Amino acid sequence: MSCHDIGRGMNDVVRRTITLYDRNEIALEPAKKIIATCENAVNWCDGNSYEALDYIRRCRCGKCLKLVPKGEKLYSIYDLPYEYENKYPYMQEELELASDGLCEECFDRLMPAYCYGDWNIESMKKYIENDDSNSDGCLSEGQHREFNNKHLWREATYWYEL
Ligand SMILES: [Zn+2]
Repeated sequence: MSCHDIGRGMNDVVRRTITLYDRNEIALEPAKKIIATCENAVNWCDGNSYEALDYIRRCRCGKCLKLVPKGEKLYSIYDLPYEYENKYPYMQEELELASDGLCEECFDRLMPAYCYGDWNIESMKKYIENDDSNSDGCLSEGQHREFNNKHLWREATYWYEL
C-alpha cells in the first residue's frame, strides 16, 4: 500500500511555490524546478506523484504554469495514444514540465518539435479529448484544488503568510 502522507506534504510545498510565483517572488524556471522536485521527492517513501501535484495538475500548464481558465483544454501527456507509450518516461523530463498537463498553446508549440513533425498533432489532441477511459478529462478545472488530496489544508503556523 502506498504512502499518501508524503504526497500531501509535497503538495503543500507545491501550493507554496505557486503562491510565491504568482506574487512574483520567484521566477518561472525556479518555480517549475521546485515543483518537479516535489513530484520526485515522493519517492523517498512509497508515494504517488499525482498526489504531490494535486494542487495544480488539473488547472495549470506544466510548461508555462499558466492558470488555464475553466473548461479550456489541458492535455495530459499521460493520455497520449498507446503508440507513443515508449516516449512517456522521458517526455516530461525532455519537455521540462512541472506537471503532466499542457495548455493548448504549449501543446501546439512543443509537440511538433518534440516529435520532429512525425506525429499528427490534431489527431493526437482528438484522441485525448475523446478518450472515455481518460478519468481526469482534459478540461481545466480553472482553479486550484480547495483541499489537499481531499484533506483540509493545514493552517500556516509560521511567520509567512499564505
Ligand atoms: Zn502552457
